[in-house]
Formats: sequence, C-alpha cells, structure tokens
Amino acid sequence: MPKVAWDYIVPIVMPADLKGIAPGKLPEELLRPIKSGGKLHWRAADAWNAMVAKATADGLELKPTSSGDLYRSYASQEASFRQRYVLKPIAGTSTKSFEGKTWYLKKGMAMLATPGKSNHNLGLAIDVHSAGEPKRLNWLIANVKDFGFSWEVVPSEPWHLRLVTGDDPTPAVQAWVDANKAV
Ligand SMILES: [Zn+2]
Repeated sequence: MPKVAWDYIVPIVMPADLKGIAPGKLPEELLRPIKSGGKLHWRAADAWNAMVAKATADGLELKPTSSGDLYRSYASQEASFRQRYVLKPIAGTSTKSFEGKTWYLKKGMAMLATPGKSNHNLGLAIDVHSAGEPKRLNWLIANVKDFGFSWEVVPSEPWHLRLVTGDDPTPAVQAWVDANKAV
C-alpha cells in the first residue's frame, strides 16, 4: 500500500463559521446529525457521508466507533476526562494539565484530550470502527485524502480522522453534495 498516504497528516483548515466558537459549544445550526447516531460539523458531515457512500459502493462497512465519537460537547468531553483522569498522583502513568492542575491517567484507561482541546469538540473528528483491521485500513489509506480527511496521530490512532479542508470540499465531496442536494 502507498506508505505516503498512511503518513498523511496535515493541519486542519478551519471552516470560517467556527471562528469565535468555543470548542465543544457549537450552535445547533452548525451541526448535522449522522445516520448512525451522533453529530458532526456540517462540512465534516458532508465529507463523511460522501466517504461512507464510496465505502458502501466498494462493499466496505464504514461507521463510527460510537455516536459519542463524532462531535463531543465540552460537557461530555469533561465527563469522560474526569472518568479517566484523577488528581491523586499515580506513579508511571501519563498526565494532562487541566484547569491549572496535573491530572493522572487511571491504570487501564485510554488517553483522552483535555476538554476543549480535541478536534471532536470542533465537530471535525470521527473515530472509525475497526479502523486498524487490514482491509479497512487499506481502504482508508487509499481514500481519506479524496474526501478531505487526514489522520492526526499514526500509527497509534488509526481510527481518528479529522476534516482538514475547511470550506473547500474536495471534488469527490462536492460531487456527493450536488447529487444529494434536496430539490
Ligand atoms: Zn478521535
């Protein structure tokens, strides 16, 4: 497979309508529900729906790990953070700084971005179910760029994709939007 694509990590270009919006506090009009549950920023929703349509046409199931792994409100991110991190020091674990304090990751818990710091709080990130499964991963490597997505941390987070194309949908996304426009 093209290794260059797996290394495909580019910075996010922000959609203009996110300017001045606090992460995790997107107004409803910027969010769009996703068929499988959960919500995304409307630009990311278009791109995701277009990519799912291509996957379906290719005979591959593409879905989020859960409805909570698309847009996350500040409150839900904070609740998850407080489940995983504690203020009581734990030796040898990873730490995060939040509200001016050092927080310690509980044993056996996966790391999580501090509230407001995750692309999920912008509605631009999606965690893909079973992304590391070879057939799905190879499909993603071949397709994410066409739909405006890129990874953020590889190889440790093959599931975490975020939209990086701001207000310029890729030709594949624009074609899907044109074909699915309400008439
Ligand atoms: Zn993620």
